[in-house]
Amino acid sequence: MRQSLVMGNWKMNGSRSEGLALANAIVAGLKQGDKGIAVCVPYVYLSDVRAVVENSPLDLGAQNVADQESGAYTGEISAAMLKECSCTYALVGHSERRSYYGDTNESVATRFVQAQKEGIVPVLCIGETLEERESDETFAVIDKQLNAVIDMAGIEALGNSVIAYEPVWAIGTGKTASDEQAQEVHKYIREQIASKNQDIASKVQILYGGSVKPDNAKAIFSMPDIDGGLIGGASLDAESFLTIYQSI
Ligand code: PEP
Repeated sequence: MRQSLVMGNWKMNGSRSEGLALANAIVAGLKQGDKGIAVCVPYVYLSDVRAVVENSPLDLGAQNVADQESGAYTGEISAAMLKECSCTYALVGHSERRSYYGDTNESVATRFVQAQKEGIVPVLCIGETLEERESDETFAVIDKQLNAVIDMAGIEALGNSVIAYEPVWAIGTGKTASDEQAQEVHKYIREQIASKNQDIASKVQILYGGSVKPDNAKAIFSMPDIDGGLIGGASLDAESFLTIYQSI
């Protein structure tokens, strides 16, 4: 049995005090022994939120990580810096990074490697655009995004990572992939990994992301290859986020 995981992505939302209030409210809704819940917060609030989540079941993540170890890379944040802030996870290759900030399959793979070097679990975000889905390229896109990481990091590296399948057309749009559409791609991802390493395929957590809300989470999470969710908008409200977590 794979451990499920529900991860919030706050993106560039909220103030410091709102972030602290949100983290406090999430922690207050959890009980000791809960597992598999995390929030990816803006870099500048990591240290503040760490103080709230310390000794609680809520894990901390960053929304990106630099593709270099250290040095003259103005504006970047290294994996070692995230480690110092007690990050367990770092998103890599979120579609907003790929589409607005030029992250490529190769630079995402490098970020993945940098995160793992510091013991941070990379959450590799992959998924197709609407255009790609409509022209039947979904699986080809997934192959390219996944293989770029496998080629650089090796298949064993996936054993210490999380994959998030996020169809770009479902992110922040209110359109969710149907449970069957999501399961079809999750199964495909697991099969591709299994063709290289069966053991890792059976262990790796594959999350679904794209307009998951309290009212659709249960059905999505009931699919056999879906191990949880990466939650954007609905993670900004503690009650919604906790309800999604409890839907697993
Ligand atoms: C995301 O940003 O990863 C995401 C899934 O956003 P939303 O839940 O708002 O679609």
